[in-house]
Amino acid sequence: MKIICIGRNYVAHAKELNNDVPTRPVFFMKPDSALVINNRPFFYPDFSNNVHHELEVVIRIDRLGRSIEEKYASRYFSEIALGLDFTARDLQDEQKKKGLPWEIAKGFDYSAPISEFLPVSKFKDIHELSFTLDINGNRAQEGNTSLMIFSFEKIIAYVSRFMTLKTGDLIYTGTPAGVGPVAVNDRLEAYLEGEKLMDFPVK
Ligand code: MG
Repeated sequence: MKIICIGRNYVAHAKELNNDVPTRPVFFMKPDSALVINNRPFFYPDFSNNVHHELEVVIRIDRLGRSIEEKYASRYFSEIALGLDFTARDLQDEQKKKGLPWEIAKGFDYSAPISEFLPVSKFKDIHELSFTLDINGNRAQEGNTSLMIFSFEKIIAYVSRFMTLKTGDLIYTGTPAGVGPVAVNDRLEAYLEGEKLMDFPVK
């Protein structure tokens, strides 16, 4: 199983980190050892002083496919979740400056908490889903999938040109604006269309 993450998929977020708005999806990967399920705590790593939250909508691939055409891409997933793409921003900034890969900033243990999955059929239109993150009861991030630069289908079409997608693979589809640091003892709560899917502490 692999975890594919899309970067800079919301204009306002690309701009808040002073990045250009991409003309093609940017993606990177996390190992399966990064996953955290069942609202278990996020353990703050000792190698960073600036871990940021990035709340994202996640899809789970449920069919094998490669070079999938965009018009057929919706057949390749049927469940959706919320996830955090925790990022050691200080390490990422160093890597970016040197033009080096992001794995140490993105793929560390506990960096990918994920909620339960809900069927896509539960929603009227997954291209218009609101999702929000509260930290200690205060709104930290607010997004809507209608603001994605690259849709779920475009992401699947693009990524599957380079790597075969397999059943169980996860795609984190990018974060909206409002990323920021978390701290030990914070409580994170994430909502999809107003329904609370995540509620976990930072330890
Ligand atoms: Mg992200």
